[in-house]
Amino acid sequence: MTFSEFNLIERFFVRDNPQRKDVVLGIGDDCAILNVPEGQSLAVSMDTLVEGVHFLHDTAAADVAAKAMAVNLSDLAAAGAEPAWVTLSLSIPKIDMGWLQAFSDSFHELLNHYGLQVVGGDTTKGPLSITLQVHGFVPASVALKRSGAKAGDIVCVTGPLGDACLGLKVAQHKLAANGDVRDYLLNQYYRPKARVAAGIALRSRASAAIDISDGLVADLGHICKASDVGAVIYTEQIPISESAKQVTSAERVMDCALTGGDDYELCFTVPEDDLRKVQAALETVGVACYEVGRITGKKGVRVIQDGEELELNKAGFDHFAAA
Ligand code: ADP
Ligand code: MG
Repeated sequence: MTFSEFNLIERFFVRDNPQRKDVVLGIGDDCAILNVPEGQSLAVSMDTLVEGVHFLHDTAAADVAAKAMAVNLSDLAAAGAEPAWVTLSLSIPKIDMGWLQAFSDSFHELLNHYGLQVVGGDTTKGPLSITLQVHGFVPASVALKRSGAKAGDIVCVTGPLGDACLGLKVAQHKLAANGDVRDYLLNQYYRPKARVAAGIALRSRASAAIDISDGLVADLGHICKASDVGAVIYTEQIPISESAKQVTSAERVMDCALTGGDDYELCFTVPEDDLRKVQAALETVGVACYEVGRITGKKGVRVIQDGEELELNKAGFDHFAAA
């Protein structure tokens, strides 16, 4: 008997995870039929991970699933949306039962953790690539957007920056690390956490928000562009983990924090008068709030170190940038 696409879906992706009440029809039919709760809008986002582009060739299947989930949920977090449903498009070069088992175990563990239900997908033969589309709920009037930042607003981030970029260098043997420092940095790279609870706590409080996938400078730049403002950030105020401080020079760490990718912390802006309320709201969900700069009327993102503006040679990751 050949192990067909249908067997594969049955075996690995149809499981007895809790059924959400808003799912009328899930996996197995031509379409999923879903009910958006009254008063909520649907927030939708999709991200693809391609082997060799978004993750290293030897990445464990469990880590690939975790990363695919985190990068997608991070977008819902940045909108202040509550995760509900996910669809999965899987392209695999061959049926590798061990890989599929590990991938789907990790995937389902995260579904349970976030109360998400997988409601459909597609399975094809091809280069290893994972596309998720996540769907979440947020009342439209309180959704977080990139636009809305005003001159004078404080720029904040939810956690240390640069760890994932350093973790990638460790995984690629470009940076030496040992013991707990190594474990921490690799974990930050392979298992980023989506700031879902923080995003919900920031609803109607942050004036603008984005998740940091391509580096603080680039992503804050997106807020500035959408809001038609500029920003200034102070390197001394950027949170850096103890592991990052121990593993390499301050300069290399700061480069990662400013322009390295994959951190998946939130960057948001808040009017100065609301800062304390926002800090308190984040504290209730156990998330820190670090002030890193200010929104300005002058366009562009400027980085200040020791009172002087830093020259940046690259502002985040761009797949199509000229080599
Ligand atoms: P169709 O031919 O109509 O596109 P498929 O054979 O691709 O249907 O899929 C059959 C059912 O299995 C559909 O409900 C689809 O959403 C679901 N499905 C396919 N692949 C996956 C997957 N990787 N994860 C979850 N559901 C899947
Ligand atoms: Mg199909």
